[in-house]
Amino acid sequence: MAWFKKQMKVHLSFLGAARNVTGSRHLIEVDGTKVLVDCGLYQERQFKDRNWDPFPVNPAEIDALLLTHAHLDHCGLIPKLVKEGFKGKIYCTDATAEIAKIILLDSAHIQEEDAAYKKKRHEKQGKTSPHAYEPLYTTEDVEACFPLFAPLDYKSCVKISDSIEVCLYDAGHVLGSAIIKVTASEDHQKRIMLFTGDIGRPDRPIVCDPDSFEQADYVIIESTYGDRVHQPTADIKDTFAEIINKTYERGGKIIIPSFALERSQEVLYYLNELLREERIPQMKVFLDSPMATRITKVFKKHPEMFDSQMRELVMNHESPFILPGLQFTESTNESKAINEIKGPMIIIAGSGMCTGGRIKHHIANNINDPNSTIVFVGYQAVGTLGRRFVNGEKEIRILGEERRVQAEVARIHGFSAHADKVELLNWLKELKSPPRRVFVVHGEENAAIAFGDYLKEETSWDVLVPEYNEKVVLD
Ligand SMILES: [Zn+2]
Ligand SMILES: [Zn+2]
Repeated sequence: MAWFKKQMKVHLSFLGAARNVTGSRHLIEVDGTKVLVDCGLYQERQFKDRNWDPFPVNPAEIDALLLTHAHLDHCGLIPKLVKEGFKGKIYCTDATAEIAKIILLDSAHIQEEDAAYKKKRHEKQGKTSPHAYEPLYTTEDVEACFPLFAPLDYKSCVKISDSIEVCLYDAGHVLGSAIIKVTASEDHQKRIMLFTGDIGRPDRPIVCDPDSFEQADYVIIESTYGDRVHQPTADIKDTFAEIINKTYERGGKIIIPSFALERSQEVLYYLNELLREERIPQMKVFLDSPMATRITKVFKKHPEMFDSQMRELVMNHESPFILPGLQFTESTNESKAINEIKGPMIIIAGSGMCTGGRIKHHIANNINDPNSTIVFVGYQAVGTLGRRFVNGEKEIRILGEERRVQAEVARIHGFSAHADKVELLNWLKELKSPPRRVFVVHGEENAAIAFGDYLKEETSWDVLVPEYNEKVVLD
């Protein structure tokens, strides 16, 4: 007979987004069950090589994958995981499964193009590549993942094994995004872990506010804006109306580089509000991004995931996705035809930071027109074409040609799908008793450390900012 109760042990490994933003990947091991939370792609230039590294754990030994949401930095390495032997289920919401499929197919396409381009370039230079010009994964690799998706509703749970149960809650970040609650149990002892994935902000359009929790033993929280406080969102509509009206009066075009998931739909949401309030004139609006169009279709299918205002709009047939004047363009020819149309109009196209896609053509076609405005509604990373515009550069090389920026360049602040440091703290403070420990992940090293310090100061809780590949024992 045992004299003492065996202490339960949960092992948690930080296999990505540890002291950096992208490549989210955390492994939980309890009593022989292995569960991965997210399997994201590294997107920062200095970490991209990690995408090619062998998985630190044999994919065939992982029992299940829990996916917080469909952004590439959370789902982008799933095809590689499956290609290398993972056969378990991928648990996420229905909307996340549908959007992830669209985003992964696009990612495979980019990987295939990149590999072909690199081969061509190296052949010209007489060099060879360490990755032998193989794409990281192909369209077929992506399609092989589809049968593994196992959709789960918010507030519903699934048992992975006798020792692990998983429940999904709304993270309020993008459509379908989930906070994942993992309950590990062993010998009648229980530990609750919360994985925030990316966590949204209160009072954003379309999506609901993040669910909060009263109890958790461990919290694994993102810190993208862990060292910042966002500007008030109230100004978004005013700034937007002003830019649109000014450009309309000049007879110019309004060009908006935008991300396909959430941001494009939010832009439509604000346009819809401004139109209904008669603060802007009616004009043609083109959503010139096949990926954004496909994702918008997923939004239309899931009104049950909208917040109350958005649901009301849909019920009154005033949905932003049926905006008067809105046209979805699919083919390249349709996209090119937009350029022939004269007069004021709004063009929303990808990519959000102008690193590729149709937006480059729209910018090139309008950059010389002082009547037009290029409007940035999202974060522009260092080294991207978008960043050069917002930095105010006047000569910009685009599509192989040096061009003078004569169009107006404007920026709307306040669009953000991530909670800032105060919002993150407020969310954590809903907990009725201190967690045993909080792990701060998914932030640039400075932001993660700053948020860790801020949290310690404000709460005196036990906080750790884990290193890449760090493994901890949770008891
Ligand atoms: Zn995200
Ligand atoms: Zn993320």
